Amino acid sequence: MSNTRNALPNMSLLSVAGIIFLSCFPLTLFGADFSLSWPTPNPAFSQGLQIAKFLQKTGPEKPFSSGAYGCVRNNGNKFHEGLDLFPVKRDASGRADDIVFAAMDGIVRHASRTSTHSSYGKYLVLEHPGVKPALYSLYAHLSEIDSHIKPGVPVKVASRLGIMGNTSSFRIPLNRSHLHFELGLRLSDHFQTWYAKRPFNTPNRHGNFSGFNLVGLNPLSFYESYKSKSMATPLSFIQSLPIVAKVRVRSSRIPDFVKRYPALSIKLKPGESPKAWDAYFAAHGFPVRVEPASGEPPKGKSPYRILSYDEAADSASRKCRGIIIHNGKQWAPSDQLTSYLELIFTP
Ligand SMILES: [Zn+2]
Repeated sequence: MSNTRNALPNMSLLSVAGIIFLSCFPLTLFGADFSLSWPTPNPAFSQGLQIAKFLQKTGPEKPFSSGAYGCVRNNGNKFHEGLDLFPVKRDASGRADDIVFAAMDGIVRHASRTSTHSSYGKYLVLEHPGVKPALYSLYAHLSEIDSHIKPGVPVKVASRLGIMGNTSSFRIPLNRSHLHFELGLRLSDHFQTWYAKRPFNTPNRHGNFSGFNLVGLNPLSFYESYKSKSMATPLSFIQSLPIVAKVRVRSSRIPDFVKRYPALSIKLKPGESPKAWDAYFAAHGFPVRVEPASGEPPKGKSPYRILSYDEAADSASRKCRGIIIHNGKQWAPSDQLTSYLELIFTP
């Protein structure tokens, strides 16, 4: 959708209108060649307010950054793949009552309505084929998913999806109700094949939309970049991420990742069948590019060879989600990155 409306009159109307009014009107920002909505009624981000005005921290003594993306949990040792956004409205019994809105035009891909089936609780995933690349967005810990939200249903930006809550397979206290919100890329169309080969003791109930198969980017940076008009499409945002590691992978199968996200690859010539691929990763293992290898496939037992690794660029993610390790002799993918590589290349 093109930017045909000026953001300012909309913003000022909202900022004088107050929270109750706002809960009926999600905040659509205008800054690029597509429309992006904040997923909750809280106007704080669009008003330029600090994170304390919208991020849900993990406990009373914790910093507000504990609700942000990155190495923010357990003193920086645990990764958090999205944003936790607190409610601005509660009902008489103290339950969160914020409507949750679609971030962009998209299609419902998954709606999991049984709280105990995931640490995400009741959650839903949209994919956004109208943007390049076709990001997913994920909305978790909902108290309620609207009844029309079913796989295949198209949704408009800023349309209603459900109600914020505190559902999860673990306990989230009522006073910490929040929306866990993610944006990112999906690794494989064959997640179940990968899952079945591993010693998980619960069934995969989420098809290709299990959290294992989704890799989130930093939503706050994404929204900031959109708001400041420094990106035209998600592609320019992704291309601006510093590359941490480049890995060559021996595989003669064309990954569905490159078919799903052609903007993150290069078009194969007719009849071309690469024997190896080069994969580029940003911090936390976010896949930025996958293209036919520019040289020979890795030889030897491991199908992977680290072509480059920028330790300085990895400083933000090493503590909680290192993607490259040194095995005594050479650099190698961490277990986390190995999972990502398997899912992209050999599920
Ligand atoms: Zn979260």
